[in-house]
Amino acid sequence: MKKQVSIVVPAYNEVQVLPAFHARTSQVIAELSQYTWEILYVNDGSTDGTQAAIEALQSCDPRVTSVDLSRNFGKEIAMTAGLEHARGDAIIVIDADLQDPPELIADFLRVWEEGFDVVYARRTDRDGETWLKKATASYFYRMMTRLSNVQIPADTGDYRLLSRRAVQALLQLREQHRFMKGLFAWVGFPSKAIEYRRDPRAAGTTKFNYWKLWNFALEGITSFSILPLKLASYLGMAISLSAFIAGSWIFIKTLVWGDPVAGYPTLMVTILFLGGVQLLFVGILGEYLGRIYNETKGRPLYFVQRYIPATPVTDPAEQPNHSQ
Ligand code: UDP
Ligand code: MG
Repeated sequence: MKKQVSIVVPAYNEVQVLPAFHARTSQVIAELSQYTWEILYVNDGSTDGTQAAIEALQSCDPRVTSVDLSRNFGKEIAMTAGLEHARGDAIIVIDADLQDPPELIADFLRVWEEGFDVVYARRTDRDGETWLKKATASYFYRMMTRLSNVQIPADTGDYRLLSRRAVQALLQLREQHRFMKGLFAWVGFPSKAIEYRRDPRAAGTTKFNYWKLWNFALEGITSFSILPLKLASYLGMAISLSAFIAGSWIFIKTLVWGDPVAGYPTLMVTILFLGGVQLLFVGILGEYLGRIYNETKGRPLYFVQRYIPATPVTDPAEQPNHSQ
């Protein structure tokens, strides 16, 4: 019996690139006929006719599944929705914009067949991105590895293959604040990296501006580290100690030399510095508190307005080994 492989594609306003993506991916999987395929597009509340494009693909390709979300939930949740609806024994998550070359899928499957549960693609280079994005991304991933207690591989996007049991494990993590790269790593299981060169976007524009990326970074840090919270204690200790030393010095100085009232600059600097540090840490507390608040609401992660599964394979020899 053939194993089934699902390709999960989150798509938000990708009408310009979707047909090209589908054509190139179809070419790749045509050479991998030892598997049955499902190409699952998640329309993440697009406003540009992406859903119509998906349904057009579906009318000429029975392997296409469509999951249409009720609004835009963001890539992390769109991927989760895709993983939840995918039926394959192995599931591949890939961007719609052809920045992740579908040609790697053959290598993914080879490594999966060797017994690895997670095969992820590590970029050796990213073309067509600004130096600022490359630099901040690289710095961020290095910092994340230091901060968090799970090992999140550096220079790795979401492009990866997951085995059925890894997906099953991942889907048990129901948090609202989903930093998927961290969750993938948190789940564990035998993993292996494949190196590749990240291409520029084939068409359309990136959905992540710097403000979004900054918030994405905050999401990553707060989801996988409480170090910022602890920092307040250490900084507090350091400041108290120096305050004690400085205080003693002022005390002695006044006793010995009878210092007249002076020191306006020192006073201002101290007040402003302490005020700043305190507000900063109240802010950090707020970042965590807000997330706790969101999690306690226990809302469902997303809603689907329409799910159109791929047409099941009719040849009994080619039935996927678990039906739904
Ligand atoms: N995406 C999504 N929902 C969003 C934003 C993005 O599903 O709210 C999808 C998008 O369609 C693409 C992938 O996530 O398939 C990566 O987005 P993009 O290429 O804009 O990100 P970048 O590669 O610039 O980081
Ligand atoms: Mg992209």
